[in-house]
Amino acid sequence: MSETRFAPEDMDRARELLARSYSPSPGDADIELVAASISAERRSRIADAITDKDLRAAHDQLYASSSVRRALRGVLESLAQALLARGVVPKPDDFDGDWWLWWPQQGRGPCQHCGNQRTLRRYSARFGKPYRYLCQRCRQQEVSDNEEYLNQSTGVIPEPGESADSLLLRRLTAIAAQAADMRHPPSRPMELTEDE
Ligand SMILES: [Zn+2]
Repeated sequence: MSETRFAPEDMDRARELLARSYSPSPGDADIELVAASISAERRSRIADAITDKDLRAAHDQLYASSSVRRALRGVLESLAQALLARGVVPKPDDFDGDWWLWWPQQGRGPCQHCGNQRTLRRYSARFGKPYRYLCQRCRQQEVSDNEEYLNQSTGVIPEPGESADSLLLRRLTAIAAQAADMRHPPSRPMELTEDE
């Protein structure tokens, strides 16, 4: 532990939390670990009271103590929230790729795309994109970029009033047709025919 700084009230709170949810007679090491976590979270709300590095270290130390971590999940969650507020988000593979389980779904902090302080939502790792926290504006941009990409790559443009299911079906059909063409290239020039 690089630096242990906790106030008497952090120790009291740690004892109380541990006694309630972990063990009636916790050891000193566990109490100090939890007190350090509580202290780090408390100081994260005071300007310049703790560096990003020390805040992340407090989170990681609590995470490393798996038994205490399980019992005091709320403390780990509030450290994650404090880190998100500073734009500190784990890499996709950190913590066995499981960090999204206790990192907040929604919070406030610098957007991972535009960097502005905003209300953020976490978006799932899907379609080749990692877990990421985006502000509403960047998310909308991402969605419309995806739309644009799909329009171009499938050649299927949404029709006015078309349902999402219908659009998805038409795109999947187009993608399947493209895949079939790649496997069996036409031996003679294809004639363009109208559907229907
Ligand atoms: Zn943004």
